[in-house]
Amino acid sequence: MAETYDIAVIGAGPGGYIAAIRAAQLGFKTVCIDKRATLGGTCLNVGCIPSKALLQSTEMLAHLQREGKEHGLEYTDLKVNFSTLMERKKKIVSGLVEGIAGLLKRHAITVIQGEAEFVDDHHLLVKQANGEQKTIEATYILIASGSEPIALPDLPFDEKQIVSSTGALSLARIPERLLVVGGGVIGVELASVYQRLGAQVTIVEMLDHICPAMDAALSKQLLQSLKKQGIEFWLSSRVVTAVVQPEEVIVTIDQQGTLQNKSVQTVLVAVGRKPHTAGLHLERIGVQTTKQGFIPVDEMFRTAQPHIFAIGDVIEGVMLAHRASAEGIAVVEALKGQTTAVNYLSIPNVIYTYPEVASVGLSEQEALQASLSIQTGISYFRGNSRARCSGETEGFVKIIRDQASGRMLGMHIVGPHASELIAEGMLAIQKQATVEDLANAAQAHPTLSEAIKEAALDALGRPLHH
Ligand SMILES: Cc1cc2nc3c(=O)[nH]c(=O)nc-3n(C[C@H](O)[C@H](O)[C@H](O)COP(=O)(O)OP(=O)(O)OC[C@H]3O[C@@H](n4cnc5c(N)ncnc54)[C@H](O)[C@@H]3O)c2cc1C
Repeated sequence: MAETYDIAVIGAGPGGYIAAIRAAQLGFKTVCIDKRATLGGTCLNVGCIPSKALLQSTEMLAHLQREGKEHGLEYTDLKVNFSTLMERKKKIVSGLVEGIAGLLKRHAITVIQGEAEFVDDHHLLVKQANGEQKTIEATYILIASGSEPIALPDLPFDEKQIVSSTGALSLARIPERLLVVGGGVIGVELASVYQRLGAQVTIVEMLDHICPAMDAALSKQLLQSLKKQGIEFWLSSRVVTAVVQPEEVIVTIDQQGTLQNKSVQTVLVAVGRKPHTAGLHLERIGVQTTKQGFIPVDEMFRTAQPHIFAIGDVIEGVMLAHRASAEGIAVVEALKGQTTAVNYLSIPNVIYTYPEVASVGLSEQEALQASLSIQTGISYFRGNSRARCSGETEGFVKIIRDQASGRMLGMHIVGPHASELIAEGMLAIQKQATVEDLANAAQAHPTLSEAIKEAALDALGRPLHH
């Protein structure tokens, strides 16, 4: 006998669990199914949260080492207790995933731990962890099955010496030498964690620059900052083979035709993620994935079956937790006749390195490609009094202004607390604010936010501080 629901959500990541909560709030009888033992998906278990916990701990250490002396803070025996640091990360993750379980319970959402597969377009079979099976019948089904790390054929993951991001978040010890394949967001964040802990870190990147989705000025500044911290970069290079030996991995790198060997202890393959649809049996509902494995959807996130939706990492687009959540909300609100469009332009992108990097809206290159007539404004943190007080003066705020409308098209920050500062840019795009609006705001003094005002003034040709 099937259990019946209005909405069945496959996946309890930030796409699925948020959609489930909103669905319950709107009065839908909702079930949320995840095969993982804990809720929260990639983001909470092996993504955003554990990586940020490690980045926070290690940045405290790096900050003290970098700036301590100048502040008059001296120490004689600063030690890293790696197991305490990892234990703290675990506690943060478990606290948050328990919190989600509580939230779903409070909203009377049925949670099933098990792997869901389609039987037909209204029925799911769930193979539960305890060996039992359940059939779910639902009027609507939302696929939020997320993504998984891409492995390279010559560097298969063993999660000990050749690791994915998941393995890198739980290494048993700090490697002396770590090689990271891929200079994208995950690569540079995890490289930073281990470099700060004392590992010699090398990043091998196929392109001639890192974090290619970012405005070129940010990518350039970040590369310079990370190099200064001691991370070695091999750009325009690729790893061709890796030979795993008991105590080391011998990696062969092709740098524009020249082959070189490098001995490291650990290799992190961070070349991207792919949509996760294995085991869903999409063929039973007539849904075909794209060449890259994504589930195709229309502007309302409908698959080939109009009552079955897909959101988050399993559909095309930037793989971000907040994007998945926004899409989940849009789907269930539309089922109640509410029109909630996802404004992709206002979705910020953040890299939690030192300095942090954050972007929203169009980059200068994208604006020019779109033949828009623009003005750019820039303000360097070295001229910002708050940044001077904290001793974190690397980086800048860059603003892109549409000459025709005066609107702010993009905000790009590399610098202290960029992840928080970008909220102002996000809201400016959401509310279609002009650069004048930003320039006229009286920011608290002394704050990092004053750099936003100054960049806006610069875009208008009337900077006050340079
Ligand atoms: C190391 C790392 C750091 C990251 N940092 C950030 C960050 O700082 N900020 C940010 O915005 N994003 C970050 N991301 C990306 C972010 O984690 C993802 O974009 C986000 O988790 C996608 O959410 P989702 O709900 O689409 O899928 P997921 O979070 O992947 O959740 C999908 C869930 O579906 C379950 N599932 C799959 N198939 C089935 C099935 N057949 N039956 C039952 N359950 C199933 C899976 O077990 C999983 O729990 C990071 C990712 C990684 C790997």
